[in-house]
Amino acid sequence: MANINQAVDFDTAALVADHFGYKAKKQPMFAQIKRPVPTGGGKLSSRPPVITIIGHVDHGKTSLLDAIRQSNVIATEAGAITQHIGAYQVEVNSRKITFLDTPGHEAFTAMRARGTQLTDIAVLVVAADDGVMPQTVEAINHAKAADVPIVVAINKIDKPDANPDKVKQQLADLDLVIEEWGGDTVCVPISAKKKQGIDELLENLLLVADILELKGEHDCPAEGVVIEARLDKTRGPVATLLVQKGTLKPGDTIAISNTWGRVKAMFNELGKQLKKAEPAAPVEVLGLNAVPHAGDSFKIVSNEREARMLFEKNKDMQQKTPARAKAVSLSNISTQISDGQIKELNIILKTDVQGSIEPIRDSLEQLGDEKVKVRVIHSGSGGITENDVLLALASKGIIIGFNSRPEPGAQRLAETEGISIRYYSVIYELVKDVDKALKGMLEPTYTEVIEGQAEILAVFSTGKKSNVAGASVKEGKLRRDALARIIRKGESIHESRINSLRRFKEDVKEIATGFECGIKIEGFSDFQVGDIIQSYRQEVVS
Ligand code: GDP
Repeated sequence: MANINQAVDFDTAALVADHFGYKAKKQPMFAQIKRPVPTGGGKLSSRPPVITIIGHVDHGKTSLLDAIRQSNVIATEAGAITQHIGAYQVEVNSRKITFLDTPGHEAFTAMRARGTQLTDIAVLVVAADDGVMPQTVEAINHAKAADVPIVVAINKIDKPDANPDKVKQQLADLDLVIEEWGGDTVCVPISAKKKQGIDELLENLLLVADILELKGEHDCPAEGVVIEARLDKTRGPVATLLVQKGTLKPGDTIAISNTWGRVKAMFNELGKQLKKAEPAAPVEVLGLNAVPHAGDSFKIVSNEREARMLFEKNKDMQQKTPARAKAVSLSNISTQISDGQIKELNIILKTDVQGSIEPIRDSLEQLGDEKVKVRVIHSGSGGITENDVLLALASKGIIIGFNSRPEPGAQRLAETEGISIRYYSVIYELVKDVDKALKGMLEPTYTEVIEGQAEILAVFSTGKKSNVAGASVKEGKLRRDALARIIRKGESIHESRINSLRRFKEDVKEIATGFECGIKIEGFSDFQVGDIIQSYRQEVVS
């Protein structure tokens, strides 16, 4: 029995439909609709580019976003004050450009890790007095991994110690050769502070957008992505949506994975009420029932009933399977290669010293063959950061630490997202493992995870040569059938399994910290008071 709001699986639905003489057809689930691509159903016409500003800290990303916002003639003429809604549009030569108002490659890659790519062009800000810095390199690699073209803005040219030529040279060393030097990277010198070069930068962004031939479908129900959302005390849930396809209008019914609602009103960043929002337009929307998550997709449905059904279906599906693509690891890569799921092994390489990067990268990149290529999409010296994990997640890659360890936050994120981090201190072994993994010959390696420890307080005889240890669990928990070892005076004297666990007279599956129990160990009964029973499990290193 299922009520009207519950989702049933396809097979059940098909049986019911069949009973009434209908044939059920499978449709993709809502959560799988991630990046709406024009389907050809509607008319395609050009749309504004969506831009993200990236670069090293303090090189002027926020100042540039402010300078561009202030250059918006419409805003200044109307005397309106812009509000931060997560994105804004400016008009240049009667054409629009959309800027995502959260600078930095961290936000950019975090969105990608959620399966959404909004950005068409990345503006890389490099301060002319400081030059290329570690995060500049990281930003370039993140943009390249996403296949997003880069336009360089050399900022702070007003400073007396500005040296744009040095920046150009440093960029060329990173394979980002500017047009002036025969390459294809557009580069504009600017001063965000003095508002110099801003118009030129905007015009160049339009030129790059022309080359990309960005198109959007206008005359169909809207689809897109949540950029930002919050709960407003007086207005309720407020979400900034970026339309990627179709036209969004007040009165439309929106379905988002964790909520739905009807558009009561829509505003732009100037607080102006809008009647419609077309592809690449960001709008602040009122009328949702709950605050959605940034990065979630939305789509317009025909009525509230459909929205509610999608919501229930989605909730049901999320409970069953976390919506995460299967992560890549060295232990499963050969199956994914033979299944044709991956054609490239993306590696993020972190080393203790800069000097190790070059030889490791060279050896790794030589490993691929016609079926799979090995690409080091980012390398750097220092610890493994959360950004590295996000990049691995977004690019379906793995992380290799060569004498480099993860920062605490990064370790946690990698564990929850299932990102594989391998550690090495010998180059030969690192390269050998990746080579074997590609050929499907890597033996699984195991790591031991301690689950719990108990101290023996008394020993009871239960018959001939059969003893039970009366023990108190000091840490973690003990599980029946778990692997276990007996430790006496710091040395392991026996390794097997926990045969039985009893609390009072009852058999139990597990015992938690602080409780006492009777324990039997497979093939061992020579317990002594003071021995430690340690239970553990083996996990495959991915
Ligand atoms: P972000 O960390 O990349 O967002 O950098 P900010 O925009 O916060 O700028 C960092 C500092 O550089 C601030 O003190 C700005 O005033 C300054 N700054 C930004 N752009 C320019 C510029 O074109 N010229 C000069 N002289 N200073 C700038």
